[in-house]
Amino acid sequence: MTDMTLAQNTSLLPYNTFGIEARAARYAEVQSADALREALRQAPHPVLVLGGGSNVLFTRDWPGTVLRNNIRGIEVVRRFKNRVWVRIGGGENWHTFVQWAVAHHLGGVENLSLIPGSVGAAPVQNIGAYGVELKDVFVGLEAIELATGKSRHFSRPACRFGYRDSVFKKAEKGRYCITSVTLSLSTGNHRINTSYGDIGKTLADMQISNPSIADVSAAVVRIRTAKLPDPARIGNCGSFFKNPEVPRSILEKIQQQYPALPHYGLPNGTVKIPAGWLIEQCGWKGKRTGNTGCYEKQALVLVNYGGATGQEVKTLAYAIIESVENTFGIQLEPEVNIL
Ligand SMILES: Cc1cc2nc3c(=O)[nH]c(=O)nc-3n(C[C@H](O)[C@H](O)[C@H](O)COP(=O)(O)OP(=O)(O)OC[C@H]3O[C@@H](n4cnc5c(N)ncnc54)[C@H](O)[C@@H]3O)c2cc1C
Repeated sequence: MTDMTLAQNTSLLPYNTFGIEARAARYAEVQSADALREALRQAPHPVLVLGGGSNVLFTRDWPGTVLRNNIRGIEVVRRFKNRVWVRIGGGENWHTFVQWAVAHHLGGVENLSLIPGSVGAAPVQNIGAYGVELKDVFVGLEAIELATGKSRHFSRPACRFGYRDSVFKKAEKGRYCITSVTLSLSTGNHRINTSYGDIGKTLADMQISNPSIADVSAAVVRIRTAKLPDPARIGNCGSFFKNPEVPRSILEKIQQQYPALPHYGLPNGTVKIPAGWLIEQCGWKGKRTGNTGCYEKQALVLVNYGGATGQEVKTLAYAIIESVENTFGIQLEPEVNIL
């Protein structure tokens, strides 16, 4: 036996950044792979693995067991000439790990500063921000199959990473707990990436012309703090929708009526359109319905003003999807996991 305990009828309110009240029939925090296996032996299924709860919307009580991943540890496991491989426990906080990397002069994750949540959830949607995605530094991960308790290694190709996507959102959805992630970080000659969003401008405001990875991290923290609502103050899960990728012909059709339509060309010939812009054009930005609404500074973010139910947020999300589809003929896809 391990130190695992299984609580009954537990409120999940403290464990999701949307601040939604939902209950789990059984709940436990696991500190090790052994404790996880023990919990899986005792736990009524279905089992939901939760990290920081910053990308989930609960629309109902969880009928089985919620297991919160608290498996810790950061360790350099291999050294190369200009790189190291670092293995991180799935229950480590992502931003705490980024701060650790920056403090140890290890480059590659500084643009991903201040993304909420756990390291174990980072591969699930291939977290990304400011021109960098997890897959850019990813080596592999260890996971435990929830149905059997068996260990499995996933290489980078096996994860099938895409834009806010991986095999853990598709074929292997809800089947594994990611217990550790190994990343490859540079030890010198860092590839500094300041071309995306406001990083260059913010560094200029900070009077920094030759930025270090610590400077880039500080700039990203500054931008994100100004732009995004702090879940500790106002419930949210960051971007609620993915930015749609459409064929160029659709872009050209919409541009006839909306010449100012922002877009980014992708290597495969399609174009990415900012979902926030589409939502704003439909008049949702800053609009409140009941206890939920569209954040006033960023239309892509749905917020809980206090006491909202998951169903309320879901209803708003689907009203937005319908309105964007009616106006632009583009179907938005939620980025948040609706449970
Ligand atoms: C203010 C704010 C800003 C954000 N900005 C960004 C951003 O810039 N870029 C970005 O990509 N995301 C962003 N997000 C979304 C979120 O931070 C990421 O998706 C993060 O990786 C979620 O981590 P988590 O531990 O909170 O996952 P959770 O919400 O706990 O879980 C998310 C999903 O992953 C599964 N899961 C969790 N842990 C594990 C595990 N160990 N093994 C297997 N499955 C698991 C869960 O079952 C669930 O389906 C933002 C969220 C907020 C609130």
